[in-house]
Amino acid sequence: MRIFYTDTFVLPLPPGHRFPMTKYSRLRRRIAESGMVPLEAFRLPHAATPEELATSHDDTYVAKVRAGELEPAEQRRIGFPWSPGMVERSLRSSGATIEACRAALEDGISVSLAGGTHHAFRDRGEGFCVFNDSSIAARTLQAEGKVKQVAVLDCDVHQGNGTAAICAGDPSIFTFSIHGEKNFPYRKEVSDLDIALPDGTGDETYLAALGEGLDGVFSTGRPDLAIFLAGADPWHGDRWGRLRLTKAGLAARDRLVLDRCAEAGVPVAITMAGGYAPVVEDIVDIHYQTVERAVSMAVGA
Ligand SMILES: [Zn+2]
Repeated sequence: MRIFYTDTFVLPLPPGHRFPMTKYSRLRRRIAESGMVPLEAFRLPHAATPEELATSHDDTYVAKVRAGELEPAEQRRIGFPWSPGMVERSLRSSGATIEACRAALEDGISVSLAGGTHHAFRDRGEGFCVFNDSSIAARTLQAEGKVKQVAVLDCDVHQGNGTAAICAGDPSIFTFSIHGEKNFPYRKEVSDLDIALPDGTGDETYLAALGEGLDGVFSTGRPDLAIFLAGADPWHGDRWGRLRLTKAGLAARDRLVLDRCAEAGVPVAITMAGGYAPVVEDIVDIHYQTVERAVSMAVGA
């Protein structure tokens, strides 16, 4: 199983910034040290190309990001200050999801230790998201003729508003989002299937709702590829989560999603999406168990 990573491309943040950037390198280190995959499994992705970005973004927005011409308000909306490193990291992150999708088609399952930047719209970024990697990857593989139907299974606690907006009216990409009703983004977009959960939702209710959601996704037909956004932010200790899932509950979520894909014979590329627990190792724990599950399924395949 191939694992794509981007943490060597540094996105510089000012002192005191609350984004837990170190989670990415710590996660890669923990996976490497576990020995669960050989070191050759780790791959550096390419930077998404202009053609790949153009599947999902306006040329003017991409040009502004590349040239460092985002207005201060646009940068504030994204939440990261502009820097050449921010551009490179964002391009590599989208490249990682594209390559994870290609690898999933060959191996059945693959992981990007980045991505899930689902708040990026055609013409703007927000919520720590610059480019919409899910849409870019889905449409790039479609353009390559590798897949026709793609399902985006967005289990980050925040609604996949950018993905829903970009893919609205596109029957070849099914967007599913299960998220906190009262959470950011406060103005929701319309996915093909949205499940909005009240504050404080725990494991049992979440898993029942997720099961029904997956029934809905797979009842529409068998996609050629799924992209699973395995956000760590539904965890009860997350700073910006508002739900009450335990780590065991999140492991059960991963099993549910990955088992349903396996049963349906659908290759799946996994991205990390959000995670904002005050103690970074808690975020790493949650993503680690997702990767562990994916590796066990790849070995068993
Ligand atoms: Zn999130």
